Amino acid sequence: MRHLVVLVLLCLPICLAYPLAGAVKKDSNMDLVQQYLEKYYNLANGMKQLVRRKDSITVGKKIKEMQKFLGLEVTGNLDSNTLEVIRKPRCGVPDVGHFATFPGLPKWRKTHLTYRIVNYTLDLSRDAVDAAIEKALKVWEEVTPLTFSRIYEGEADIMISFAVREHGDFAPFDGPGATVAHAYAPGPGIYGDVHFDDDEQWTEDTSGTNLFLSAAHELGHSLGLFHSDNPEALMYPVYNPRTDLARFRLSQDDVNGIQSLYGPPPASPDEPMVPTKFIPPAPQMPSLCDPALSFDAVSTLRGEILFFKDSYFWRKTPWNHKPEFHLISTFWPALPSELDAACESYSKDMVFIFKGSKFWATRGNEIQAGYPRGIHTLGFPPTVRKIDAALSDKEKKKTYFFAEDKYWRYDENRQSMEKGFPRLIADDFPGVGPKVDAALQAFGFFYFFSGSSQFQFDPNAKKVTHILRSNNWLKC
Ligand SMILES: [Zn+2]
Ligand SMILES: [Zn+2]
Repeated sequence: MRHLVVLVLLCLPICLAYPLAGAVKKDSNMDLVQQYLEKYYNLANGMKQLVRRKDSITVGKKIKEMQKFLGLEVTGNLDSNTLEVIRKPRCGVPDVGHFATFPGLPKWRKTHLTYRIVNYTLDLSRDAVDAAIEKALKVWEEVTPLTFSRIYEGEADIMISFAVREHGDFAPFDGPGATVAHAYAPGPGIYGDVHFDDDEQWTEDTSGTNLFLSAAHELGHSLGLFHSDNPEALMYPVYNPRTDLARFRLSQDDVNGIQSLYGPPPASPDEPMVPTKFIPPAPQMPSLCDPALSFDAVSTLRGEILFFKDSYFWRKTPWNHKPEFHLISTFWPALPSELDAACESYSKDMVFIFKGSKFWATRGNEIQAGYPRGIHTLGFPPTVRKIDAALSDKEKKKTYFFAEDKYWRYDENRQSMEKGFPRLIADDFPGVGPKVDAALQAFGFFYFFSGSSQFQFDPNAKKVTHILRSNNWLKC
């Protein structure tokens, strides 16, 4: 659900022009499906007409993807079984992807976490809420080395609250039914937090929405688990009121998922040592002020600058002193991590993202239809396997692509690669390179990032005017 949080900020002009409410009644199923696919399966906004056209390939594919994920018969049609599942209450985190963990493997870097119950629902006694949360934490504590302690003031790792409708994170709840709660993957600030929709009737049993089950599921997200497509799993996205709550157990799928992040609980001394599976270490969260920080790709976006690193990016806005830090997958669930290059096309209001031999076109949070495409469609020779950096010259309407020690120039007006390229970076950008990681145009200068250094290059004087640290933009 985090992606809504940031997306709305990014794509405000598009979203506002696109009213979802006010549906004609006879189309209510279509609207329901439309909303469901947009919210949980990353169907690009603006495809409203397409949903109504039953022959639409994109929508058919999305319906199939949803049916497959939810374990329904994969027909691509809106049959009654599918509509029935769509109407069930569920978690607000999307189902895009087939991971047991979030793309990028965000996880806590410590095993002792704090939680705080910020407020209470009126549906239950305070003791009942406390007990449900404690029991839900225990579910995860039992199968991992994680431990939790409660705090009563200040910022806990996991802040738990009840809210209705708009509640300050740009991911408003939707009244009774449908989304019952959402949670954020591990990280600072709002990350790790759990929000319950207080328009649900929260109960200790299963007569309403059971708080313990919902909390156990959401806390799975807080610890780094994504949705599972296994209907037996606690992390299955649709709320599943189990009748025998007293004997609730995690499915093996849930246990495998969480242990892939944190490993099993420490063995007690009298237990025989059992060899455990090798668990690959999760990638380190990059640190903004690390003097050795380098970037994979840098791009402008509607007056902001995005700095990509591993599975993350920093977003520097002109109105905010401190950059925001996000997972790439929260904006663009379909994009890979460890990108090669990114650049903005001002005329198209798009950002192009490159990795390996492919590139994607994004507008706001939406990946444009027909992508990824091969980079060779831009005019690169087959010997180019990947590009290292891309830079758009806003005034001259040219895009520069850097690969190894060469560069190419693309004419935005003519939509083709210019003749006479590639040329050597060393010849035309003396002092830069020989290889660049990322590039950016700002204030009339070109900025080239190479490892932890950044070269400010004056394209008119054709010389390097400053050498800075790569993270110089991010105000450490
Ligand atoms: Zn969920
Ligand atoms: Zn929320």
